[in-house]
Amino acid sequence: MERQAKRSDKEIIVMILSLTYALGVGVFAVIRMVNQDWMIGILDIILASIGLFIFIYVWYTRSGHYPAYAIALISVIGTIATLAMKGSGQIYWAYPSVALVFYLLPNKHALILWGVSALIIIGLLIDLPVIELVTIAMTIGITSFFCYFFSARMNEQHDRLRRIANEDVLTQVLNRRAFNNDTIKLTDSQTAESAILFDLDKFKQVNDYFGHAKGDQVLQQVAVYVQSQLSCENCLYRIGGDEFAILCVGKDFGYAYHLAQKIHLDFSQGEINKEHDITLSMAVAQKEPDESIKDWLGRLDSALYKAKKSGRNQIIKAIRH
Ligand code: GH3
Ligand code: MG
Repeated sequence: MERQAKRSDKEIIVMILSLTYALGVGVFAVIRMVNQDWMIGILDIILASIGLFIFIYVWYTRSGHYPAYAIALISVIGTIATLAMKGSGQIYWAYPSVALVFYLLPNKHALILWGVSALIIIGLLIDLPVIELVTIAMTIGITSFFCYFFSARMNEQHDRLRRIANEDVLTQVLNRRAFNNDTIKLTDSQTAESAILFDLDKFKQVNDYFGHAKGDQVLQQVAVYVQSQLSCENCLYRIGGDEFAILCVGKDFGYAYHLAQKIHLDFSQGEINKEHDITLSMAVAQKEPDESIKDWLGRLDSALYKAKKSGRNQIIKAIRH
């Protein structure tokens, strides 16, 4: 059986939050109902049901993007509605809300949503004595500032870590890990997906004649050259020593084969070839909807092997039999 991509952090967090939210608000709903506090009781039941729906939605669709917005919205609407109905004593709900909004949403969106919500909240409390109003405004302001600051830092570090984990140190294109993750994502795809696999011919000679450092430099030049031939930014991977892959997501065999021909021809007439007599052996394959990722990549591997065995410097179509 095909291995499924791991759930993302966001998915897991949205699932935990939506379930906790559903259970937490559910308990409040029961208490409100027992106290015959019908209006807020019904509001809590609606919010708890939405929380449960979001949990089930993320569980099945494995998408945490829109649910994150939904949870953030529910949280601020819930806070504002509770304040409007129960009065300023409910202000403490604003503090977890601001943390949630900044944790779940991109900073700019969080700023807009929380900015508008904070204005509404202050508007609702406008009749409070000035000293109390100023205290609330200041504590919400300070909490918002720290949430914004920490979330900006967290997003920055998250992006940095992801880049480090997925980038090939030598060539700065994506690495094998990224390739594995990105291909697994195509498991259930019903659209055309194609890939090109290529390996440098007799690359070892460069290392042997000119040294490893020169070999490294040639690998870098190859990556820069091939990337310059591509219209997609994140589709070139170095998956082994001198072996690269190009993922043509949503593209059919014809597109990938044409691209491989262009790269192959230009490379054979380019500087790297002139200087080091290096050519490319390539394989192209389209993933069939009923085919596993393993079989698709296996076909590509075999075709590349065939290209090497039958004289190198050529493109082999990995046809499914
Ligand atoms: P073939 O035509 O059959 O592909 O032979 P080849 O000489 O290109 O060698 P092969 O593809 O079998 O092996 C790749 C070689 O690339 C092995 C190793 O010496 C070299 N290599 C792998 N990683 C690096 C690297 O990071 N830097 C350098 N300079 N060389 C590397
Ligand atoms: Mg090679």
